[in-house]
Amino acid sequence: MNDTQLSKQPPYDVIISGAGPVGLFLAGELALAQCSVLILEKAADPHSPLKRVPFGIRGLSSPSIEALYRRGLLDQLELHKRMSNPHAQLKEQTPQSRPVGHFAGISLFNDKIDASQWKYRLPGSPPPTLMSEMQEVESILARRAASLGVVILRGLGVTSFQQAADGVTVEAGHQSFHGRWLVGCDGARSVVRKLGHFEFAGTEPEFTGYSTQVDLADPEKLQPGRTLTPKGMYLQSQPGYVLIQDFDGGAFHHADKPITREHVQEVLRRISNTDVTVTALHSATTWTDRARQATTYRDGRVLLAGDAAHIHSPLGGQGLNLGLGDAMNLGWKLAATIHGQAPQGLLDSYFTERHPLGAQVLDWSRAQVAIMHPAPAARALNAIFRDLVNTRDGATYFAGRIWGVHTHYDLGGDHPLVGYSVPDYALDNGVKVGACMRAGNGLLLDFEDDATLKALAAEYGLPYVTGKPADRLGVNAALVRPDGIIAWAADGVPDVSGLRAAADRWCMRR
Ligand SMILES: Cc1cc2nc3c(=O)[nH]c(=O)nc-3n(C[C@H](O)[C@H](O)[C@H](O)COP(=O)(O)OP(=O)(O)OC[C@H]3O[C@@H](n4cnc5c(N)ncnc54)[C@H](O)[C@@H]3O)c2cc1C
Repeated sequence: MNDTQLSKQPPYDVIISGAGPVGLFLAGELALAQCSVLILEKAADPHSPLKRVPFGIRGLSSPSIEALYRRGLLDQLELHKRMSNPHAQLKEQTPQSRPVGHFAGISLFNDKIDASQWKYRLPGSPPPTLMSEMQEVESILARRAASLGVVILRGLGVTSFQQAADGVTVEAGHQSFHGRWLVGCDGARSVVRKLGHFEFAGTEPEFTGYSTQVDLADPEKLQPGRTLTPKGMYLQSQPGYVLIQDFDGGAFHHADKPITREHVQEVLRRISNTDVTVTALHSATTWTDRARQATTYRDGRVLLAGDAAHIHSPLGGQGLNLGLGDAMNLGWKLAATIHGQAPQGLLDSYFTERHPLGAQVLDWSRAQVAIMHPAPAARALNAIFRDLVNTRDGATYFAGRIWGVHTHYDLGGDHPLVGYSVPDYALDNGVKVGACMRAGNGLLLDFEDDATLKALAAEYGLPYVTGKPADRLGVNAALVRPDGIIAWAADGVPDVSGLRAAADRWCMRR
């Protein structure tokens, strides 16, 4: 099919702007739910050195790992099996005392983290954190999307769109494409967000961050690992790969100037307070801690997800995870809307559930910047945080926040587990709950073989999963949404009318 034929296709259910990880994951979710999807991607080539280790390293956290696991994609992540620990400080460590993440550059050590405090995580669940790289994540998701029939056109950036009552016409590369819905997954500088006049509220940056690959004449002049200095921070993650934070108010990044060897040397010398010499600059990119969030994620038939909806500093590795969470939340809701099955308010719950989580991540990144600042008050606070992170409760709290193990939506309901991700129960018949959601479906979980619940599952066409877990975590039965979130749960005799109400509210009839 050539481009002209494609543009004359009947409308797609959804056009997605951007084949980054969020656009690709969302496309797969929509296609699993029988929607036709077109992705328009500006870059002609999906490969880039910036998407590969070390610059492309991305820490995945619990909600993303669970999402990949539930869709049968987790086993395809291979890189973490052979990647060296990017948090390693090049100092002596033991396997028991390994840095596994950081808050504001303060390392978290695995022997301090007490996972037994995370009350809804069962032993044997997928890991709460995993290292991957942009390229690996994108290729897995692109393969899945293509295998489900998603059309991906590369080298066609969205340049404008017009919204009408029944759809959206999108212009890209002098061609028009028609969709019933448009989702902007086109990253931090989203054209969809700008053309759609979405308000993007937030705070301006404190620093310019540099990721550089350099040759150094005298690398020994730099400290190993992450070093806070009176002027900022630098990190030599492996020889020749240097990350710098210059508290210049984001001035360099926003000037959009070329990054030269001389400039990198000047910044590195100033921040490290050494006379280190950069003999060659192989590649470099800059970023900031600008923190902004769209004040709505939907205008009519146009939606935003991922970096298009929220930006913040990459400290602590949250943006990709936040975006994948958006896609997991939005996919089934938009599909139900497209199929005419969604009850009032279902699609809008995408914003009410995801916006508060985005706001929390922005604040988390602002808090880190505040205590990484070179000012004396910030350094004093940094020392106090260092003490806290080094306690057992402190490390457990920070790891739990960074890895999203407590992610919760306020869905109302009486049971404490409502709104949380379903624990990965291993049942006595060999079934693992997380593996029962590959088709993008929700399910009814019943540990009591209750005939009424079984009949209700049949009536709704809902997959019914039964068996006995070793630990029920106070649950006899639970209704699980397609995104793995518990919508209703019972710890005694089930309230069937409450279950029906939840199943209708979350459009669980198939
Ligand atoms: C140095 C660094 C380290 C990071 N580390 C982590 C980490 O460890 N963990 C984590 O969770 N996050 C991390 N992040 C953040 C993470 O990379 C982003 O949040 C994530 O890539 C967002 O995905 P996305 O799909 O929303 O946007 P993007 O990855 O930016 O993808 C957007 C896509 O849209 C395309 N596009 C742009 N304009 C158009 C257009 N007009 N039309 C069509 N297509 C268009 C782009 O070419 C791109 O392919 C890090 C970021 C940086 C900079």
